[in-house]
Amino acid sequence: MLDTAAALLAIFAVFVALDLARRVGRTRGRASALWLAGAALALGSGVSAVHFVTLAGDPLPFPLGYGGWLTALAGGLGIVASALALRLAYDPRAGRGQALAAGLLWSLACIAAFGLYLTDLRIAPAPAWRAPWLAAGVAGLAAAVCAAVWITRLARFSSIVRRGLAAALAGLALLGAQHAVTLALHVPLGGVSLNHGSASAETLAVLAAFGGAALLVVLQLLSLMEARMRAELQAAIARVEEAARTDTLTRLPNRIAADHRLDAAQRAGREKQTMAVLFLGLDNFKPVNDSFGRQVGDMLLQQQAERLRDAVGARGEVARVGGDEFVILLWPDVDRDRAAALAQQLLEVVAEPCEIEGRPVPTSCSIGIVLCTRNDTTSNAMMHAEAAARYAKRAGGATFAFFEPSMLGDARDQVELLRDLREAAARRQFELVYQPKVHAPSGEITGAEALLRWHHPRRGVVSPAVFVPIAERHGLIGVIGQWVIDEACRQAREWRDQGLRMRVAINLSVHQLRQPDLAERIAAALDKHQINPQLLTCEITESVAMEDAEGTMRIFEKLAAVGVNISIDDFGTGYSSLAYLRKLPAGELKIDRSFVLDLESSADARAVVDAVVKLAQALGLKVVAEGVETDAQGQILRSLGCDQLQGFLFAKPMSAKALALWAMNDVGPRAMDFRASLFQETRPQSVH
Ligand code: C2E
Ligand code: MG
Ligand code: MG
Repeated sequence: MLDTAAALLAIFAVFVALDLARRVGRTRGRASALWLAGAALALGSGVSAVHFVTLAGDPLPFPLGYGGWLTALAGGLGIVASALALRLAYDPRAGRGQALAAGLLWSLACIAAFGLYLTDLRIAPAPAWRAPWLAAGVAGLAAAVCAAVWITRLARFSSIVRRGLAAALAGLALLGAQHAVTLALHVPLGGVSLNHGSASAETLAVLAAFGGAALLVVLQLLSLMEARMRAELQAAIARVEEAARTDTLTRLPNRIAADHRLDAAQRAGREKQTMAVLFLGLDNFKPVNDSFGRQVGDMLLQQQAERLRDAVGARGEVARVGGDEFVILLWPDVDRDRAAALAQQLLEVVAEPCEIEGRPVPTSCSIGIVLCTRNDTTSNAMMHAEAAARYAKRAGGATFAFFEPSMLGDARDQVELLRDLREAAARRQFELVYQPKVHAPSGEITGAEALLRWHHPRRGVVSPAVFVPIAERHGLIGVIGQWVIDEACRQAREWRDQGLRMRVAINLSVHQLRQPDLAERIAAALDKHQINPQLLTCEITESVAMEDAEGTMRIFEKLAAVGVNISIDDFGTGYSSLAYLRKLPAGELKIDRSFVLDLESSADARAVVDAVVKLAQALGLKVVAEGVETDAQGQILRSLGCDQLQGFLFAKPMSAKALALWAMNDVGPRAMDFRASLFQETRPQSVH
């Protein structure tokens, strides 16, 4: 009876320990340590419970009592050895050898713990230890544990069955080992336990059995709760990914999804296989929208999207990539004739008048086609198809055109901008403006993001959304990016000298991330202006961070080593994999403005933000929502648990001077407090 109880406790303990230990390798930092501690506690309590419950079954024919110190030591040994063994066995890099060594170590420690418990009985006259039984105990337990390790790695069964089998084997072996150690103890005739009268074996057995069982139940419940939260999180992530890829109006894949599909199709295709990209723009959508209203415009887009999807069918994939723009991908092995035939069919399908509110609305479209092979880049293919569509539209619309290099017109404007851009840095036409970030619960300003502005002598203020891509394409972003890094640090220094210890965030472009010495440049700028690296945050757009996962990881690690914070910007628009995000040393996620924009009207957007917040919390990241424009959005974001907010509701980007004035003299767009810590300790501080 007691043996059965001991066996059940041991099996349950091993089962719970294995369940918790699975998470050690999957989490990091404090979470990983806590899971390991829980698993070690479960396993260690199992070892103790087996001993006490077995001894309550009177294998020694005299009343027993424990001294205390050695018993505590044995209990501690069981837990520490369990922690060590589980850490070794569940190390993600552990090979078979390491796992088996862990099993052997644990077996030795268990036998030692059982020996210590028995020694603490202080049996007189002094008993002798029979070595063969001890050796048999170690060998039997080690063999069973190694077999259990092997079972947990069998791919054939489900994980719960594997864990159950391994737990049964190791649990029963633990009970056997306890009996072997008792048999190894040779007590001379007339032997007594000198500690009889202190903590009795029966009391400890009851404590160990009930306490151990209660502890195991609690740990198992914790594990189940975590598994449920994890499942919810996975579902939330799936929703985020789905939302990031779907156009809300037409439910078609959006531009990001189209880029990815094309990428994937190209990668999967054979060397010479061709595919076609058709870029389709509606010819007269804007007048329809203007004269009939946006609602009618939306209905028209939905109808046309439906028609395109039906017409293309299984031959390819349709995506909506802009207001009235669609992309159709066709593969594999598409030739010019097949692409032209489909384009003709689409022209006819779109030209059928749409019936909206009982009125026929005539529409037509222009289609640009490019045939590409595996070796063409995705962005080129899209750009060329779009250029061909523009050409078709200029030719009067309602027609299609195949791409030709001469269609890449419109370049004059770009060339002019590029020429001016080359001189802008030298002529000091750049400025950084600063947009505050606000602590969501308290409403205090906690820092500011530096946003680049180009004061063009003729065009006025040019948005970074216009000139950063040109600078990136023509290799100018390195110089401009360096100016931003240096200027942001210089400004932080100037504010500091005025008594404001402002936290500053800068945006980094994909090309900057590819500079091998980016981290050194940032460190040098911080050093030059004597700015604490913790005051600087580097914002990196999610899609950029995901482009070259390995490279990003390396540069992030270097940036983290410099001590700056890392923030993933425009989160929700790229394709973050959970496994990858977890490994990045980032501290912050910035939810993309598009989700915030729809918060009030769309349950989908709320679900996405909710999911992002949960994801961030699970990964220990802070969440910032950008583009907050209305009080209602702010309220929803606060209730969903966002840590920080940023947007026109609080302040538009402003000059450095204006921000300092606001902080020092309270002259700003709104009555708002600056966080007290921004004013503390204004002594210059070294980076080192
Ligand atoms: P971002 O980093 O996501 O910055 C947020 C953009 O949203 C900024 O536009 C900001 O002015 C705007 N914004 C902020 N709050 C609101 C709001 O409530 N409503 C609306 N409608 N807009 C809001 P901006 O300054 O035009 O910058 C656009 C993008 O250009 C930035 O997106 C960033 O990716 C890039 N950028 C800006 N400065 C730099 C820079 O120094 N270097 C690089 N590489 N990129 C930069
Ligand atoms: Mg940003
Ligand atoms: Mg952003």
